[in-house]
Amino acid sequence: MTPNLPLDAILAAAIFAACKHQGHVRKDEHASPYITHPLSVAREIYTTVKVDDPPILIAAILHDTLEDTKTTQDELRLHFGEDVLSIVLEVTDDKSLSKERRKQLQVIHAPMLSYAARIIKLADKLVNCRDILHSPPTDWTLVRRQEYIQWSADVLAQVRGANPPLEAAFDKMAAQAEAELDFTLQPFDTVNQRPWGPKGSIPSP
Ligand code: NDP
Ligand code: ZN
Repeated sequence: MTPNLPLDAILAAAIFAACKHQGHVRKDEHASPYITHPLSVAREIYTTVKVDDPPILIAAILHDTLEDTKTTQDELRLHFGEDVLSIVLEVTDDKSLSKERRKQLQVIHAPMLSYAARIIKLADKLVNCRDILHSPPTDWTLVRRQEYIQWSADVLAQVRGANPPLEAAFDKMAAQAEAELDFTLQPFDTVNQRPWGPKGSIPSP
């Protein structure tokens, strides 16, 4: 772990994201403040990846600002620089597309992501799946939780090799999910049998 992390820039990102996500809540039964999520993603990267690249931590904290708030690209560029903006853009879905198509594109685009974006993508899926396991959205059925974890495992399969410790943490969570949610994750080579597979049932626009 680097002794020279630019703590001021990291804390500035946390304050920025907290303001931008103000009033947003997670979908769990306690409606936790949304900011807990990007901070958890950054913390996972710090503790598990032992990252020595500050833009990854800053982009992790900001990773849902473009997608879920009114934050503009110019704001991110001005406050955090072009490198951070470009990582955040890589992990931002095009919200003009259907949720189904976005899920499919995440599977298709994952191998093209930069190292920094892969790490954030991995940590984001890990943190979300842990939430799905331990504090799920209140109205989700068991099947929906199982499907979300299967989809996350398919995205993860596309970035495997990026960071073994993070992948091991995902695999541990996945094994726990299989036991507690009573299902078996299917291997990636069957992904096209699922709607979000590159050749799955979701029609291209
Ligand atoms: P959503 O996109 O609606 O919700 C999941 C996202 O919500 C996560 O990726 C996460 O995003 C955020 N989130 C907020 N709070 C939590 C929490 N407590 N736990 C986990 N995630 C949380 O769901 P889907 O990704 O499943 O997208 C909708 C899809 O589900 C569609 O494809 C639709 O067809 C399908 N669907 C399936 C149903 C079923 O029963 N199988 C029923 C209805 C829809 P972030 O990281 O950005 O915060
Ligand atoms: Zn996220």
